[in-house]
Amino acid sequence: MLTVLSQLEIEIVSERTKFGLNGAIKSGHLPGVVPLGYTRDKNKKVIIDETTKDIVIRIFNMYLQGKSYQQISNTLNEEKVLYPKHWRDSTIMGMLDNKTYMGDYVKFSKSANKEPIVYMNVVEPIISRAMWEEAQLQKEKNQRAYTRDRVYLFFQRLKCPKCNRIMKCKGSGGKKKKYMYYSCSHCKLYYREDKVEKCLENFILDLVEYDMTVKKYFFPILADKKETNTEKFDKQIEELEKQKARIKKAFMTGIVEMEDFAEDYKLIEEKLDLLEKKKYETLNLNAVSFTPQQLLADRDIEREKLIKDDKLSEIIKEEWNKKSKEEKQEFISKFIESVVLIKDKNDELKVENINFRRSYIEQLTKFFNSGIFDVYAPVEINGEEKYIRTSVNINDDQLQDYMQRLNKEFEVEYYELFSEKANKNDEEIELELNKEKQKLIRLVAVNNEKKFIKSKKENYKIGAVVCTKK
Ligand SMILES: [Zn+2]
Repeated sequence: MLTVLSQLEIEIVSERTKFGLNGAIKSGHLPGVVPLGYTRDKNKKVIIDETTKDIVIRIFNMYLQGKSYQQISNTLNEEKVLYPKHWRDSTIMGMLDNKTYMGDYVKFSKSANKEPIVYMNVVEPIISRAMWEEAQLQKEKNQRAYTRDRVYLFFQRLKCPKCNRIMKCKGSGGKKKKYMYYSCSHCKLYYREDKVEKCLENFILDLVEYDMTVKKYFFPILADKKETNTEKFDKQIEELEKQKARIKKAFMTGIVEMEDFAEDYKLIEEKLDLLEKKKYETLNLNAVSFTPQQLLADRDIEREKLIKDDKLSEIIKEEWNKKSKEEKQEFISKFIESVVLIKDKNDELKVENINFRRSYIEQLTKFFNSGIFDVYAPVEINGEEKYIRTSVNINDDQLQDYMQRLNKEFEVEYYELFSEKANKNDEEIELELNKEKQKLIRLVAVNNEKKFIKSKKENYKIGAVVCTKK
């Protein structure tokens, strides 16, 4: 190293005495080590090395054909190009950056805040200016694709089952590059993102259906005041979204560790929730004159039609799959506060627990209070156990309202299944249906007390809403 440096020094000094450094560069006497593809003539002037220039051209071509640094260096190593030289991806990256190949020389200043000086057309180019610029564009494009790939769906959402720390997002190098991981370095746990998504698929698809339903039918129930101006909220929301995006960008481009920002990030999300809530509340609902039960009936009618055509699950899956990774990430963080997954004996991921966002739970509470909250109850229908949607916290009037609306589309009947005195608690409900003619829409647990009092179970009756096929 020392000899190289001192030789370099001597060269520079000798050039200086001849022309001064600038003059030297302008006449092709570049200081420093000549890049691959060039050599020096007997006067130390940098000239094209005819034995290696084609390698340079080939590297630029391969890159423009879409090969990565790694793929290019692998090819050159396999072909033993200039063996025993070992090609690295950083070598390729450096070459594609080097302006010498289009004939320019860049002199970097010793002080960091000074711009480097570019001397144009000081050596014979190996690569045309247009081609060199194209390689730079390609680089930007690849960089963007890389950043996009680095969007983690469960960003800041997974917690380590052992130590409860937030699991860190991590890409992996080498051959497994396409996988993304969540890891806890303390407990040496690694979860692959695609497996996490698969494990949570049913929860996510339920949330997707919920979200679609709320947007289409139940949005009015979330709002309960009568103001129209949401502009001030929109502006604040926009501002906070920008802040959030900046933090994420800083993390994704590797400038900062997420931990440094975790608190800010959380605070922004909480503010956003509050603003969204206020926005809902201010929306004008005068125009909406349907009761919650009528909205529920409309939703059930559409749902039954989709089920009949076997389209419901398809539509929900499509709604999820058409989202970009960013949108998926936004969606998940809208509903889920944290998730703990564990690995079972077979190394399969299992859900240990899911914490939902407070804003989501508040929505559910509103739906519960309006009598349109569904739970799933086990029912034996013609000897087969199924989980059936069941309305809870609904009274007789609300049931009538619901059924009348449903009657526009279907012929609906109500069957009372049992009353409290006839059956003991926790006994499974049995239902006999005429398979050909009848379809169970939902169960209802009708509560005729005005207030929800757990101990007064005798006021409940369980019934089935069944439609008859024509
Ligand atoms: Zn841990």
